[in-house]
Amino acid sequence: MKRLVMKFGGTSVGSVEALRAAANIVHAARREWQQVVVVTSAMSGITDLLLEQARRAASGDITLLDEAASRLLARHDEALHELIGDAARQTEVSERVRELTSRFVDLCQAIAVLGEATPRALDAVASLGERMSAPLLAAVLEEYDIPSCAVDASAILVTDERFQNAHPDLEQSRPKFQAALLPLLEEGQTPVVTGFIGASPQGVVTTLGRGGSDYSAALLGILLPADDVWIWTDVNGVLTADPRLVPQARTLPEISYREMAELAYYGAKVLHPKTIRPLIEAGIGLRICNTFNPSHPGTRVYRDEARNNAGLIRAVTAIPRQRLVVIEGRGMMGVPGVAARVFAAVASTETSVPLITQASSEQSICFAVPGESASVVLDALEKAFALELMQRDIDRIWAGEEVAILTVVGAGIRDTPGIAGQVFGRLGIEHINVLAIAHGSTDVSVSMVVDHREAARAVSALHQLIEQEESQ
Ligand code: ASP
Ligand code: MG
Repeated sequence: MKRLVMKFGGTSVGSVEALRAAANIVHAARREWQQVVVVTSAMSGITDLLLEQARRAASGDITLLDEAASRLLARHDEALHELIGDAARQTEVSERVRELTSRFVDLCQAIAVLGEATPRALDAVASLGERMSAPLLAAVLEEYDIPSCAVDASAILVTDERFQNAHPDLEQSRPKFQAALLPLLEEGQTPVVTGFIGASPQGVVTTLGRGGSDYSAALLGILLPADDVWIWTDVNGVLTADPRLVPQARTLPEISYREMAELAYYGAKVLHPKTIRPLIEAGIGLRICNTFNPSHPGTRVYRDEARNNAGLIRAVTAIPRQRLVVIEGRGMMGVPGVAARVFAAVASTETSVPLITQASSEQSICFAVPGESASVVLDALEKAFALELMQRDIDRIWAGEEVAILTVVGAGIRDTPGIAGQVFGRLGIEHINVLAIAHGSTDVSVSMVVDHREAARAVSALHQLIEQEESQ
């Protein structure tokens, strides 16, 4: 085995115990792999804390800023004191954390003065969590006799300037990754790279979007390249459902890339959705495992669809807090370009749409958006269709009550007769009303929309189909 990338998520570096567990995991991996690179998230809760203060500052409120800065220091200091015995090492990281904390305070004060937090400023603030956790984790590894150092990805990952959701430039990044990391690896070091962040060609810090350090790990995997990427999280791999909704949910030992991509997209919180594609294309192995239960094998993501039990339901997910937006009117019938204008208007609000349906009568288009985006989306649509609304070609543009999108995932679902029947039959038995359905855009999933109050019950009901398959 040659080169391994291991990514530790926020909870995996979020406490003294977690950092200890992570260090033991790296230690064990170095016995089996010639080269190990680590990618880290910020300590759990830190990115939220940073962004919350930036948002408050934008509305002129910096009353909680000092308290937040103290909390930031306290979280990192606790770990430093408990885990780092070497005084020089402790001072070095502690100074770095202090420097970054005062940058946080300065940035928030500047935001408060301007009365506005631009996406660029939000990225500058959000990036600080990983810039603190990486030196901390590197110091912990050194304490465990693992030669290590922190690498700030803003020096090697080149992205475009879409702040808060930046797109990486692989061609420009590759030589930088290799020049920075390969010599360290050859010396036997295990570098700790900041997840989540990059920089524009001009060197301005960007982020890859919330949860983006998985994506960072995938990028490291393809750019170095590595043989395997392991994502360390706080659950036993990929489960058949969210265990908070379905206590009998269990780990899937294996899953195909396409099923995994679908699960990530439809709300399984295990992996950032963009992580998977580049890895499949490069043929790099992917595994998801539990920092707090490292002997559990977790889930292996594999390429070979044929190995899968096609036509079986593998997992059920729910995306909560959505609303359905409906555009209806007889004047829409047979008029080309309405859908294009609808989605152009939605896109102008930077809202992503997880589900779309259109009845064949063409009298209405219906799609889901995150609940908090519904009102901006409605405004944009009313503006875009002002004329049609006035002329009564469109009767109404509205958003319904809060809903959840449930998705049933499994390879070959679309092409297997009877699965949709089982799914909707089951919901019928439970008297759960289905408000919208999307089926067929991929062959590995069926999605349906239900009232948010029924979501938990619906997930359990659908999970029974998996339990039933298992007992057969
Ligand atoms: N720290 C970032 C976040 O909380 C990135 C990550 O954890 O993946 O979104
Ligand atoms: Mg995370």
